[in-house]
Amino acid sequence: MLQIHILSIKEHGLDLDKTVDVKSFPLLTSISQKGTVSFNQPVHVRIHATIIADDTVIIKGAVSTLAHIPCSRCLESYDLTIDTEFTATATPDNPASIDDDAIEEKELKTDEMDAIVFSGNSIDLSDGVSQQIIMAIPIKPLCRDNCKGLCNGCGADLNKNHCQCDSQVANSPFSVLKGLSFPKKKE
Ligand SMILES: [Zn+2]
Ligand SMILES: [Zn+2]
Repeated sequence: MLQIHILSIKEHGLDLDKTVDVKSFPLLTSISQKGTVSFNQPVHVRIHATIIADDTVIIKGAVSTLAHIPCSRCLESYDLTIDTEFTATATPDNPASIDDDAIEEKELKTDEMDAIVFSGNSIDLSDGVSQQIIMAIPIKPLCRDNCKGLCNGCGADLNKNHCQCDSQVANSPFSVLKGLSFPKKKE
């Protein structure tokens, strides 16, 4: 589990630099079990947490790991480096006495940033960090910038193989030239 204990956050804040086994992130392991995207590598987490008023904790963090993910062009799975930063506000689920102004202010802040609600003295960051990792995956991941993808005709992986079909030749305006025969010059 990746947790921050409120009481360990001192006046100058709390710094955390940890490499955490991926098994500590239930969201990531459940995605991995579904098969398409998998997370097998440890997750490196760096966090700076500070308490502002009313037990509200501001968490600034950086997360890095690898995701094993299929390329959107060639469908070959590859290791995508994930390296992302986030800011989150953690608020207690039963805030003590807060006047209306403070609530309004807090609502504004939680709109702007990712919000985590905690109970007791510890903030569980497992799901928050998992979400950051998931959000860092591009919609159309590419195994390399110049991935050639698959041939529409024969399905060949054009990064590794040559196209096996001659559809492009058949559709080419020059294909008609193949049928022409020229009279041979007599010498
Ligand atoms: Zn690819
Ligand atoms: Zn082909």
